[in-house]
Amino acid sequence: PVVTRFAPSPTGALHIGGARTALFNWLYARGRGGKFLLRIEDTDKARSSEANTQAILDGLTWLGLDWDGEPISQAARAERHKEVAHQMLADGSAYKCFSTPEEIEGFREAARANKTSTLFRSPWRDVAKADHPDLPYVIRIKAPRQGETTLHDRVQGDVTWQNEQLDDMVLLRSDGSPVYMLAVVVDDHDMGVTHVIRGDDHLANAFRQNMIYEAMGWDKPVLAHIPLIFGPDGKKLSKRHGATGAAEYQAMGYPAAGMRNYLTRLGWAHGDAEFFTDEQARDWFDLDGIGKSPARFDFKKLENLCGQHMAASDNAALLHELEAFLEATGQLPLTDAQSDAMSRAMDSLKERAKTFPDLLDKAHFLLIERPVVPDQKAAKALDDVHKGILTELTPQLQNASWTRDDLEGIVAALAEAHETKLGKLAGPLRAALAGRPVSPSVFDMMLVLGRDETIARIKDATQ
Ligand code: GLU
Repeated sequence: PVVTRFAPSPTGALHIGGARTALFNWLYARGRGGKFLLRIEDTDKARSSEANTQAILDGLTWLGLDWDGEPISQAARAERHKEVAHQMLADGSAYKCFSTPEEIEGFREAARANKTSTLFRSPWRDVAKADHPDLPYVIRIKAPRQGETTLHDRVQGDVTWQNEQLDDMVLLRSDGSPVYMLAVVVDDHDMGVTHVIRGDDHLANAFRQNMIYEAMGWDKPVLAHIPLIFGPDGKKLSKRHGATGAAEYQAMGYPAAGMRNYLTRLGWAHGDAEFFTDEQARDWFDLDGIGKSPARFDFKKLENLCGQHMAASDNAALLHELEAFLEATGQLPLTDAQSDAMSRAMDSLKERAKTFPDLLDKAHFLLIERPVVPDQKAAKALDDVHKGILTELTPQLQNASWTRDDLEGIVAALAEAHETKLGKLAGPLRAALAGRPVSPSVFDMMLVLGRDETIARIKDATQ
């Protein structure tokens, strides 16, 4: 069975690149009946925080990336990491190194002077069972010194390193604490991770981690190192290009389904499919479709896909997500009446909306209460029409059957009676109903507002 994991370091909030890494792992597992695990790499105490961990969990939750089981804290597993280092020591694949920091620095200076490799070559490597009970030591791995190592990566292909570039990296520091590189391998092994899908900034680490798998004789996971995300200008995505945090996109009100779709396409392709459902993404996602070159973030495309997902969303689900958006951004919740009105209007509201603020903006006419205070442009539209014309509407609306055809017929007949165009009446009517010059169509608004509210707003405006 497939087991993937997302292993963020809680040194910051969830970055858009991290969100995509999590998404790829989630899709890969979910599409194969596998497990998607979460491991918080919190070994760097000084730079990690609870708040960052929470922000990462919140970001994943917003994106709908659910993980299996409890998140695992890497720091909490330090004893197990130490145990493995000691096992390697006992097996002879690691050794105690008593070199002092001064000695190591001396080695490096000499190497620089002689223009030889500055990778530290410890004199303790070949001392059989060196022990000096009173002296501090680190535990180092015995790296291979000859030959080369080739790792097969599902994205990068075969990648080869000369072993002389590998150093006898430290596994346990002199205070006995495990290093990150050891922790990753032990955790991936113990968690049963079968596929490591992560940013290609970790490709060099893979060779160092590989030494630990070799030493322990553990099964190695399939590797897939995905290219980083670039901005539209081809440089590494940064604040200069726009928002880089997942939470910022949530705050801007992008729907999670659109965000998932967009991030899935960011570096992965399935033929020329752009818009797809979660189900399709799960069915289609594979490692073969991941591109080798960096994907460029395209804000227009994100908006476009978000608009398509809004339009395709189930109305009740959309309302639910809108309410979550209001809560997450600290805005007032909808009243029951407002949420009823929005759900009745949702079919027309969701057309052409790309974000939740767009949706709220289109819903403005039904979120406001009487008396509607017209803005400057709306007030002008009302001034420009002979108010008597609008007043004539009310008795007819009283008797209308309140279907779109009927309402259109009434307004058209009125326009004809006054030898004016329908469009000339639509402006002031819109002003009366919405208080602003931009809104859904006059008839859409009437249908949603209902007879009493429509007539009351027209009366307010014509007084
Ligand atoms: N903690 C690492 C990071 O946040 C990820 C390590 C890994 O996926 O192996 O970049």
